[in-house]
Amino acid sequence: MRISVLSETDPNEGRVAATPETVKKLKGLGADVVVQKGAGIRSGILDADYEAAGATIEGTASKIAAKSDVILAVRRPTVAQIDGANVGAAVISIMDPYGNEAELAKIAGTKTSAFAMELMPRITRAQVMDVLSSQANLAGYRAVIDASAEYGRAFPMMMTAAGTVPAARVFIMGVGVAGLQAIATARRLGAIVTATDVRPATKEQVESLGAKFIAVEDDEFKQAETSGGYAKEMSKEYQAKQAELVASHIAKQDVVITTALIPGRPAPKLVTKAMVESMKPGSVLIDLAVERGGNVELAKAGEVVIHNGVKIVGHLNVAGRLAASASALYAKNLIAFLETLIDKEKKTLAINWDDELVKATGLTRDGAVVHDQFKGGSS
Ligand code: NAD
Repeated sequence: MRISVLSETDPNEGRVAATPETVKKLKGLGADVVVQKGAGIRSGILDADYEAAGATIEGTASKIAAKSDVILAVRRPTVAQIDGANVGAAVISIMDPYGNEAELAKIAGTKTSAFAMELMPRITRAQVMDVLSSQANLAGYRAVIDASAEYGRAFPMMMTAAGTVPAARVFIMGVGVAGLQAIATARRLGAIVTATDVRPATKEQVESLGAKFIAVEDDEFKQAETSGGYAKEMSKEYQAKQAELVASHIAKQDVVITTALIPGRPAPKLVTKAMVESMKPGSVLIDLAVERGGNVELAKAGEVVIHNGVKIVGHLNVAGRLAASASALYAKNLIAFLETLIDKEKKTLAINWDDELVKATGLTRDGAVVHDQFKGGSS
């Protein structure tokens, strides 16, 4: 069984899909591990480190996938990158399938089986494979660090002989995994933290972290959670009431971090231009949803926009800004999933298409797109 680890082609991607630690585990599963030259360098891992763990380094991009049974990557590979893989090989990465059905159809054409790690069900068995959580946790932390770097003042209250520096007021919008970590991090830095979400369950979580919960708590709010634990898209009426409350609150904030997402939908717009204009110059907005359309009206993907002295930060791939940590966790998520796809006695790939993890994440099989949500693009 040959397992290949691709080098990422996106210039904004510093993560890598395997670490020396996971290479050792893959070797333990009886695999030959081939790592593309330089794949780990932006995560602080040298080719020599992979070799010491038992991997072979392949320098020719066109050869890396050849005769592979498993291909591991961070982002969805191109067809050229997986060219030559065995029929039925498992290609595992963050596939970003929504709106990319045509790309999925091309991958299907290679007769490999593509798996989207971000579609992993959030059940107990799959917690160790949950890339959304492992990466969002780091993004939430990094968002606060980025905000503190952009903010020209201190976060904690400081009482000095020369006078008192007030504590920063930090408002977190969206209290999922990233938002919870942002609250915890901002609290650790001494900020006064408030947070909002449309899911009622988050109120207690916010308060348990020592922050204050801000939301319109009407009947719609009380039912605003899907059985999967995700947010529902709220009615126009609710959004208007929430916007009014948020507008008066935002004007008093120094830092706003937005993390609100709805699976498979564009990010909800939560911060309008008028709200940005109500903030004091020197305030900072971090939009963690910028890649999915953004929560902040003026945010631009990959840019720091300054509007009336307010900085609106739209960094891409925020987890990747902590590439070494993000890679270490992502690689562990991958290997935990891969272990379920391998027959450990025969040391071969043995995908059980009836397994709920496989059903939830499997996008392509035998030349077709097989996932119910994305079948429209099958070739
Ligand atoms: P997410 O990234 O999909 O969204 C981030 C947050 O934005 C969510 O809390 C969502 O409710 C919120 N949001 C959406 N629209 C909003 C709006 N208009 N205004 C304010 N907030 C809005 O969320 P996530 O981090 O993936 O977490 C989603 C849920 O899954 C949470 O309940 C989380 O605890 C749960 N979860 C479960 C497991 C598990 O059981 N293994 C693992 C991780 C997360």
